[in-house]
Amino acid sequence: MSEFIPFNRICRGLEELEAVQKVMEEGSWHGDGPVGKRVETFLSQWLGARHCFLTTSCTHALEMAMIVLDIGPGDEVIMPGFTFVSTANAVCMRGGTPVFAEIREADLNLDPDDVARRITPATRAVIPVHYAGVSADFDGLFRVLEDARKGGSKIAIVEDAAQALGARWNDRFLGTVGDIGCFSFHDTKNITCGEGGAFVTGDEELARKAEQVREKGTNRSAFLRGEVDKYTWVGPGSSYIPSEILSAVLEAQLQKKETIQQARESVWNTYRRVLEPAEERGWILLPQVPGYARPNYHIFYFRVQRVQDRNPLLRALKNAGIDATFHYVPLHNSPWARSTLGDVPALPRTEQLADSLIRLPLWPGLSDRIEEVAERVHDVLIRYFD
Ligand SMILES: *Cc1c(COP(=O)(O)O)cnc(C)c1O
Repeated sequence: MSEFIPFNRICRGLEELEAVQKVMEEGSWHGDGPVGKRVETFLSQWLGARHCFLTTSCTHALEMAMIVLDIGPGDEVIMPGFTFVSTANAVCMRGGTPVFAEIREADLNLDPDDVARRITPATRAVIPVHYAGVSADFDGLFRVLEDARKGGSKIAIVEDAAQALGARWNDRFLGTVGDIGCFSFHDTKNITCGEGGAFVTGDEELARKAEQVREKGTNRSAFLRGEVDKYTWVGPGSSYIPSEILSAVLEAQLQKKETIQQARESVWNTYRRVLEPAEERGWILLPQVPGYARPNYHIFYFRVQRVQDRNPLLRALKNAGIDATFHYVPLHNSPWARSTLGDVPALPRTEQLADSLIRLPLWPGLSDRIEEVAERVHDVLIRYFD
């Protein structure tokens, strides 16, 4: 029996341990210290984002986004039904209404034409999710939002770039194309500090508000810069600042981002090459990457033609030692959405796509033996379909 291949494995080294030890021995442990500031500066410069704030998660960055945009009761925010709960929770927690739209078959990203159909006078924002680290269709979204603007609506774009650090739309980094970008540094993402995130924006007013929201709704940051002589409560906010200990882990991870990226890319390309014959025989559908997208190889997935083949195939892969898995159960069908949002429209395409999806193990250390692993996957497909 060949070795069991887990779905994900952290790219860990001594660097993280040494970075943490340094902070534990020498520095303060609370957030917004020298390490956190260095990471924010690094991310700003690398991504070309004017303002960057580290957060305790992408979930919290999304919550911050809804607070700074002043989303509240009566406001609608359009997002794909195929996303993580945090995208929708951020809206619900402010009393707003998530409106779920279809994704496209080619790349499982938000379908701009379906967004257009769901815009109403109450629409305040759209949250494209860059699934698998592949850019959403901004040309399509900009066209749709421009039409809405002519109709009198000003709609913000908040990018859920949780999976998309380092990926681009043309030559712009994801997270910096819309009004606000939200990143995740969770264990499952390409770069991780366990739990962490970032909020980026190029807008001065949104950045000023974000700084206050993140400082528990105070102007403490302005006070620390000497701009005001005492700090006070200025609005809603919470505690979204990660400790220096986590920032130290993040800094160590970011220093090896090229190595991590290259290894992931090689795993992704090998799966794609080895599984191509299975696509040619009509058994599976491989992911497509649009010309404008430069992905960060966050996820490798494929789809089966018939949804009834998905679960048996997942079992066959597990039996062959491959920890393959499905992904999101679309949110519009969740018990919570049905009980709180009333008549949520069906999204037949999203449901079909979610039910036909299989994700394969993808982590940097896999690059040494990816030929063998990809062949093993291919063998399972041959045995199943042939
Ligand atoms: C991982 C993920 C999140 C949540 O990130 P956390 O840092 O764990 O809060 C949100 N949206 C998407 C699309 C994700 O993949």
